[in-house]
Amino acid sequence: MPEHFIVGRAILAGDAAHVHSAAGGQGMNTGMQDALNLGWKLALTISGAASATLLQTYESERLPNARDVLRTSQTFHHIEIPHGVIGRWIGEKIFKAIQSIRSFGDAALARVGMLNVNYEDSTLSLQDSRQAKPHTHAGWHVLDASCKIGNRANTLFDIIRGTHGNLFFFVGDNPSPSTISRLRAVEQSVAPLKSHLRTHYIVACEAGADTATSDGASVITDGAQYLQTVFGLRAPEIIYVRPDGYIGLRTQHLDDRGLVDYLDLIYAKARSEVSK
Ligand SMILES: Cc1cc2nc3c(=O)[nH]c(=O)nc-3n(C[C@H](O)[C@H](O)[C@H](O)COP(=O)(O)OP(=O)(O)OC[C@H]3O[C@@H](n4cnc5c(N)ncnc54)[C@H](O)[C@@H]3O)c2cc1C
Repeated sequence: MPEHFIVGRAILAGDAAHVHSAAGGQGMNTGMQDALNLGWKLALTISGAASATLLQTYESERLPNARDVLRTSQTFHHIEIPHGVIGRWIGEKIFKAIQSIRSFGDAALARVGMLNVNYEDSTLSLQDSRQAKPHTHAGWHVLDASCKIGNRANTLFDIIRGTHGNLFFFVGDNPSPSTISRLRAVEQSVAPLKSHLRTHYIVACEAGADTATSDGASVITDGAQYLQTVFGLRAPEIIYVRPDGYIGLRTQHLDDRGLVDYLDLIYAKARSEVSK
């Protein structure tokens, strides 16, 4: 592994950035996650929309991850592929014994399946929400859930598909007019970023859909409360999901300043260009 993934205009990803034993089957998955993390940051940087620091977060988010994968595959390698027939036999026995302990087996599966990869420590992961459930904190990939847009059945993964970032405004169980108007003001404040961001209101029932209707934003009806259950939502909240599907921000502060400051970490130049 190199010490850096980015030097000047050279950027490393995949096996070029971390090459290791095939034991554990981690190489291709790690490389694809590099690409997913890098693609949107590179696109925003090249188009001149990104903040000056966005691209560096590729290295700060992915390098520790690659180091971790390297360590794990090294361990798998030593257990799975020791030298000699007796060594291999002992290695297999040790591996099977570890797998048979359920808690170890589950932890190993989550690790090898890479479902526990997250960027909680990243400068792009901010959270003040007290509603977040495990694995729905800022820095984790969003979990999928069924919901509806209009009368059409949909899923969260379908809604976030594409190259945009997504902003979700959960209006709460019984939204007051003041909550709706505060969220509308927040929506207005990010209007300069509309070519980069899609906005969605999440309402708890069909009746709330009219209240939240606004130009250009979609209204997601979560009557069966699948989304609310997954995210632990009860009170109003703003959630930003990055183009790679990871949650960047969860905030219960419905003020535009906090959100604009956060989005500047990503889209600073796009906003300053529009306001010129
Ligand atoms: C036996 C084995 C089993 C594996 N099993 C798994 C598994 O189960 N799961 C898993 O996730 N991973 C697995 N891997 C790892 C996985 O195959 C690699 O991590 C992955 O293919 C790396 O993809 P990459 O695109 O980064 O690099 P590569 O696949 O190496 O692609 C690099 C490409 O660049 C080309 N190239 C090189 N130099 C130049 C140049 N100068 N100009 C133009 N082109 C160039 C090469 O020809 C190549 O096509 C396994 C690897 C091996 C060897």
